[in-house]
Amino acid sequence: MFEKILIANRGEIALRIQRACREMGIKTVVVHSEADREAKYVKLADESVCIGPAPSAKSYLNVPALIAAAEVTDAQAIHPGYGFLSENADFAERVEQSGFVFIGPRPDTIRLMGDKVSAKNAMIEAGVPCVPGSDGALPDDPVEITKIAKKIGFPVIIKAAGGGGGRGMRVVHTEGALISSVQMTRTEAGAAFGNPTVYMEKFLEHPRHIEIQVLADEYGNAIYLGERDCSMQRRHQKVIEEAPAPGITDKQRQKIGEACAEACRRIGYRGAGTFEFLFENGEFYFIEMNTRVQVEHPVTEMITGVDIVQEQIRIAAGEKLRYKQKDIVISGHAMECRINAEDPFTFVPSPGKIESYHPAGGPGIRIDSHIYQGYVVPPHYDSMVGKLIAYGDTREQAIARMSVALSEMAISGIKTNIPLHQELFMDAAFQRGGTSIHYLENRLSQQKKGSA
Ligand code: ADP
Repeated sequence: MFEKILIANRGEIALRIQRACREMGIKTVVVHSEADREAKYVKLADESVCIGPAPSAKSYLNVPALIAAAEVTDAQAIHPGYGFLSENADFAERVEQSGFVFIGPRPDTIRLMGDKVSAKNAMIEAGVPCVPGSDGALPDDPVEITKIAKKIGFPVIIKAAGGGGGRGMRVVHTEGALISSVQMTRTEAGAAFGNPTVYMEKFLEHPRHIEIQVLADEYGNAIYLGERDCSMQRRHQKVIEEAPAPGITDKQRQKIGEACAEACRRIGYRGAGTFEFLFENGEFYFIEMNTRVQVEHPVTEMITGVDIVQEQIRIAAGEKLRYKQKDIVISGHAMECRINAEDPFTFVPSPGKIESYHPAGGPGIRIDSHIYQGYVVPPHYDSMVGKLIAYGDTREQAIARMSVALSEMAISGIKTNIPLHQELFMDAAFQRGGTSIHYLENRLSQQKKGSA
């Protein structure tokens, strides 16, 4: 096992990784920007290294500074967390070439899954169901493009192969708008991602977002840890996640889970990963794979008892997977609310000093957050300041516990989206479960109309 790991991230996930390391008796090196000097995980670290000024481009994305920090502290491995460099194949390669272990998949795998066209092709080959669409990249010829769209049937969605974070997509409802939409998406994709390749998919009108968590080791062992439902989204950003997904049967779970585990074996996947699907009319359609730990991993941990971050570390250290599929037993239900420093209704970010903080507690409640009273939320990064997680024997109990916990959470000095979560937990459709990815946006726009 490693003696020392460098954590190349910030915020709640830096603390989460640090907790996993400390529990395992591994020393931690934390890197931080000038804006994060006062962070809790910096104080708790065995060693810390300032890697640059506040803007991410000069600190958390500064590859030479990160490698130098690992060198001077004699760290053996680097955990990239999520966001920042976590899905950057060139970074993973640099880490390995510099003699450190990258806690994640092989650089080649990151590259394969990072390009959505190659990822989709790999999944089709591995027998994972995908959204019907163009076989690979769209050709240049307008006649060919129109032929493909007609075959798929309108509406279609044009997506950038290099896209991410909900950007680089355009929905097309009519043949008349097709060619200009393809051209616009190509131009934008070239400018934003340095890759003008686009592809086409059937646009699903009322899907849910359901994803499968996997773990795989370097010896060809792969398992799935069930699914998460992350359909409550705003601007393609997840707001609430839960596991298991309401209404998914054991048989459906087993079938899609097995397909994902088999895909891992085929592509030689290593580490933790997530297969994201749209789910409509009882069918799963693969959209992309995330080759890293995800924000919402705690809900899976709560219902399986598996510590996903610790397993990532064990796999990176070359250990064989400790679990067989039959060891993974799903029990109970878990919900997660992302707590953001923002106005709950206008969504304007609200950084600043936390004047007072009273976290929730009680049975089944978990808080993954680095904040404390007196902590200043910097304006430079993502607005998420923590995650409130509630576990119950049943979905009803998890909802009841989350509602109580939300009423206990008191954060002053900054605005948070806790009031929005409180409304959503009282929403009848959410309480029933199974709402589509458009539910929250529709609800918000209706409220806007109502108040206008
Ligand atoms: P990104 O990498 O930018 O997150 P994804 O491919 O995961 O891109 O898609 C992000 C979101 O866009 C999905 O969660 C879904 O809301 C929407 N989306 C993507 N593809 C489709 C599709 N074929 N039909 C309907 N919605 C889609």
